[in-house]
Amino acid sequence: MNICMIGAGYVGLVSAACFSEFGWNVTCVDKDPQRLEELNAGKSPIYEPGLDDLLQRNMQAGRLRFTNELGPAAKAADVILLAVGTPMRRGDGYADLSYVYAAVEELAPHIEGFTVIVTKSTVPVGTSREIEERLRAARPDAEFAVCSNPEFLREGSAIGDFMHPDRVLVGVDDDRGRAVMNRLYKPLALRNAPVMFVGRESAELAKYAANAFLAMKISFINEIADLCEVVGAGVQEVASAIGKDRRIGDKFLHPGPGYGGSCFPKDVSALIRTARENKSPVSIIEQVQRVNDERKIAMAHRIEAAAGGSVRGLTVGLLGVTFKPNTDDMRDAPSLTIVPMLQERGATVRVVDPQGRKQADPLLPGVIWCDSALEAAEGADVLVTVTEWNEFRGLDLAAAKARMRGDVLVDLRNVFSAELAHAAGLRYTAVGRKPDESDLAPARAALRAV
Ligand code: NAD
Repeated sequence: MNICMIGAGYVGLVSAACFSEFGWNVTCVDKDPQRLEELNAGKSPIYEPGLDDLLQRNMQAGRLRFTNELGPAAKAADVILLAVGTPMRRGDGYADLSYVYAAVEELAPHIEGFTVIVTKSTVPVGTSREIEERLRAARPDAEFAVCSNPEFLREGSAIGDFMHPDRVLVGVDDDRGRAVMNRLYKPLALRNAPVMFVGRESAELAKYAANAFLAMKISFINEIADLCEVVGAGVQEVASAIGKDRRIGDKFLHPGPGYGGSCFPKDVSALIRTARENKSPVSIIEQVQRVNDERKIAMAHRIEAAAGGSVRGLTVGLLGVTFKPNTDDMRDAPSLTIVPMLQERGATVRVVDPQGRKQADPLLPGVIWCDSALEAAEGADVLVTVTEWNEFRGLDLAAAKARMRGDVLVDLRNVFSAELAHAAGLRYTAVGRKPDESDLAPARAALRAV
């Protein structure tokens, strides 16, 4: 089977490499010359565990190639997948579909023989139909079907998620298209992955509904964590008690500085727009968005309160800036709110992140980059965990304290414990912890400040 993947970002690159691992012949097209140069040298331009090996193996086997020439790849393809970005549109918060429609316009002249065009990008309901209409207008002679095949992989465990999905969702209204998609995913179906065929609108909406639901779980537990602090409960005990209920499930019940990343914020925003436009508002999701926006700001206030009410003239050592561990992705990361707020209030911010520096550098001007957590602690009055990278979990807190000027640890990811912090001579504030597990006063003050 010949596959043309348009877009070599997180989704396009991982999907292209995984399809080629099945033995399919994959050409991945991108416009970014630097990205192509790195890829053609056998190096992934993004950090994703296991991806370098997968790319090299399949490129050497001649099943996977990267190019900026769409024409030949599209002509030869049985399936053309669109994996270009659909970022939040400035101004109205809707999904910016300009990359999708530009790619559709570019591929239209090259359709040859029956071809299935697939939206792997997350696109609002009705986009597949719109693509079909645009292609029909551009190429009345062409034979094609347009399918929706939203991607559910998670950065950081993307290859495992692609190879062992909870489900593969295919939205298709056409028998020939369905047969081709069936063949495309046969290797996964043979490994017992559920491949679900639904209508295109259902597939498109399901992707947004899934992300909005997960965002809602995060905002829910963040608010419960705040309540825990005030009433003397422990959020980890509450989360594990409710998570045992299979109707609730134990995933996405970890409180923190708010959700970020390339998907949840923009997909929540786009769903709200779609719902409003269709006069069927999703008021729960509107609240989720508001709660999350306030959360990031509250976390900066929490750091300030833990520092004694002001960070002016203080040094803050920040552990982790990416929106979650095991990725270099900085899109909508909570650190992008927290760091500038601390700087505006007069703090010097020292930062360490195992993979985030390349993307974060232009986004966080004025920070001091460090190579290790201990270096970030050097001269710091306050140490803050923002992203729970595994390597921070083993941090020797006594060694960190020895390098610090102050003695405050603000643990926004509940990585450490009061016991460990106190043993190292640090004062400790976490998220949603009981009074004996957190030096609570600063957290309460921060809650009142918002
Ligand atoms: P990305 O920004 O990392 O990558 C997009 C790539 O497309 C870039 O390399 C860009 O150069 C390329 N591109 C844009 N227009 C092009 C064109 N006309 N021709 C060739 N290349 C072009 O995006 P991403 O994170 O991979 O996301 C892609 C889509 O998948 C989005 O809709 C996103 O919502 C969705 N998605 C992302 C994730 C995730 O974890 N990142 C998970 C599920 C779904």
